Amino acid sequence: MTTRITIAKGDGIGPEIMDATLAVLAAAGAEIVYDEIEVGEKVYLSGNTAGISKESWDVIRRNKIFLKAPITTPQGGGYKSLNVSTRKFLGLYANIRPCRSLSPYVNTKHPIMDVVIVRENEEDLYAGIEHQQTDEVVQCLKLISRPGCEKIIRYAFEYAQVNGRKKVTCFTKDNIMKQTDGLFHQVFDEIAAEYPHIENEHWIIDIGAAKLADTPEMFDVIVMPNLYGDVLSDVAAQIAGSVGLAGSANIGEECAMFEAIHGSAPRRAGQNMANPSGLLQGAILMLQHIGQIQIAEKIQNAWLRTIEDGIHTYDIFKEGVSNQKVGTKEFADAIIARLNEKPQQLAAVSYPSNAVLKLPKYKRKPLKEKQLVGVDLFVHWPGTDAAELAEILQSLVSSELALEMITNRGIKVYPDGFSETFCTDHWRCRFKPTGPEFTKNHIVQLYQNAINVEIDVIKLEQLYTFDGKLGYSLGQGQ
Ligand code: NAD
Repeated sequence: MTTRITIAKGDGIGPEIMDATLAVLAAAGAEIVYDEIEVGEKVYLSGNTAGISKESWDVIRRNKIFLKAPITTPQGGGYKSLNVSTRKFLGLYANIRPCRSLSPYVNTKHPIMDVVIVRENEEDLYAGIEHQQTDEVVQCLKLISRPGCEKIIRYAFEYAQVNGRKKVTCFTKDNIMKQTDGLFHQVFDEIAAEYPHIENEHWIIDIGAAKLADTPEMFDVIVMPNLYGDVLSDVAAQIAGSVGLAGSANIGEECAMFEAIHGSAPRRAGQNMANPSGLLQGAILMLQHIGQIQIAEKIQNAWLRTIEDGIHTYDIFKEGVSNQKVGTKEFADAIIARLNEKPQQLAAVSYPSNAVLKLPKYKRKPLKEKQLVGVDLFVHWPGTDAAELAEILQSLVSSELALEMITNRGIKVYPDGFSETFCTDHWRCRFKPTGPEFTKNHIVQLYQNAINVEIDVIKLEQLYTFDGKLGYSLGQGQ
């Protein structure tokens, strides 16, 4: 069955690598027709800061499958990254990047590497909610949701199951971020229990990243929150051989976008030099996603054979290993000439016939019992002695509330602070109720009292328990 997709040729090397990719798809018999839209630099510079028109959005939403070449995001000027907004507008929550080494044909320190990074794509610090709160302190909100965790972690296990992978590893920093990364890890443990035949493990991200860079052969599928996944998927692609060889899939419940992981490489544009492999890998992931499994396999095996035959673009060309340095178009022609061949030395691929993952929709859980148990008042205060601030604040509280502690950048400075601790002008002051009668009205009163004595409250954060479990972190040193 023919699938109608949307394509965008993008900027820089985009048009060349897209033409090469489409030529391979056509020669392999991919059953697709496409609508082409304009996105990127030209659209930005015409005054559209989003880089895409409403009509183009309509085409993407109608066709649901989008193959996108890299685009140039102009620096500054309020331009928004179209990549980030496309992922979020279309709910493309899963970013999948297979990173496999092609030793000895492509130079790598890790000849045995076949890792798939599954990156959460919509939340975490990428919510982009940032505020300057005091002269000295800005903040960025890290948002992690249970639906976000469940969707991406289930995706990772389903992916592993369907693709015959043996292990799913989770990377977080939940020894420090016990609420946000703690939730990701907890959901990982819950979902892992539903897949007892797949091995699972959790690593703290710092040592996990070091192991990934040193011994990638230890890993199979790795699932991570957004920021860690962004960084480590580039690391994984680079140590496998080159970021120029990797493609990625961005998958949502309705739509999906496929692309190369590299950018528009403007300096290489228009010279028939660029390696089209990254976008071609994106297209192979797309073919699997739309159920054209045999075509995907055929192209991947022909590509592996081309690499193995030493027909290389400049970026992976190496004297003694490569046989022929070719341009973008000639590389595509070499793949086309091998469409009925398989690699002889590298392992040929054979994709599962049911590679299209069908995940259940997230179901909201029953509400937990939520209890208000205190408040953090964030204060912009230019002083340096926390005891002095504590004295002012204590004069503000009614008998229902007591000042429990003050922290500065998370470290407890009152009571019993250290004189050595460096303090900024940003203070978090935690109040706890003295009895059971505590309500939000007491918080409003506290806020009003602070305003009356010109204490600059910059924000309030209510403290809750959920089914009796603490819904906030303690101060460091508390
Ligand atoms: P880049 O990935 O475009 O280029 C980095 C280096 O890799 C360059 O030296 C280039 O020569 C080389 N390279 C990249 N792809 C190659 C290929 N296919 N074949 C051969 N060599 C290749 O990164 P950059 O220079 O930081 O970014 C350029 C532009 O691309 C920026 O405007 C950036 O915003 C954008 N960008 C877009 C995407 C996307 O559309 N998904 C992703 C990253 C960067």
